[in-house]
Amino acid sequence: MKTIGLIGGMSWESSLLYYQIINQRIKEKLGGHHSAKSLMYSVDFQEIKTLQHQGKWDEATQIMIDSAQKLETGGADVIVICTNTMHKMAKEVEESVTIPLLHIADATANEMVKDGMKKVALLGTAFTMEQDFYKGRLIEKFGLDVIVPNEAERVIIHDIIYQELCLGIINEESKHSYLKIINNLSQQGAETVILGCTEITLLVSQDDCSIPVYDTTRLHAESAVDFALKVD
Ligand code: GLU
Repeated sequence: MKTIGLIGGMSWESSLLYYQIINQRIKEKLGGHHSAKSLMYSVDFQEIKTLQHQGKWDEATQIMIDSAQKLETGGADVIVICTNTMHKMAKEVEESVTIPLLHIADATANEMVKDGMKKVALLGTAFTMEQDFYKGRLIEKFGLDVIVPNEAERVIIHDIIYQELCLGIINEESKHSYLKIINNLSQQGAETVILGCTEITLLVSQDDCSIPVYDTTRLHAESAVDFALKVD
């Protein structure tokens, strides 16, 4: 079994899910008392959140690079960045280590393509919904047609992520807001919705939605297990 290196803490609410999903899947696959070999370097999210919102991406990138290098030095065989947003600097992180990085958008898109999805809606932080690093990859690498909520809806999605979900606050009213937005996207032709922020799965699940939901947290964590168990 290979050792999974997780860059966590963004937020720790979702890092918990990664740890749980990874270990559950190892147990399912190997049985007995098997559990995942893993290392997590968990950052202080207040620092990251401040840098993001001040647009200080170079400093944030340096923190991600330092974290990845610490994991490699500690014996990790693969890097998993436990957030969609911080894949903005995935390339720089990947180039700073000699071990592979498992990209969260690839883990998700591979499943959508396998399922024959074409027009997909993306929910996430404003950075993820508005910038090109994530949408662009889905479009260029996987040929997907990606739509995002309108401006007012994006503000709602973003604020709920930072003001509630990353603080572990789960609010029924916020869930209704998300479901309303997902419904609007479905009416615009989205066949499916990507929960493109690793905390959204704390609020919304497949059972709540009329269209298929792709949970990036689960798909990314599962892809890490597949990597760890792959025979070279
Ligand atoms: N975990 C979130 C994501 O997947 C947001 C927190 C962050 O800014 O990293 O994008």
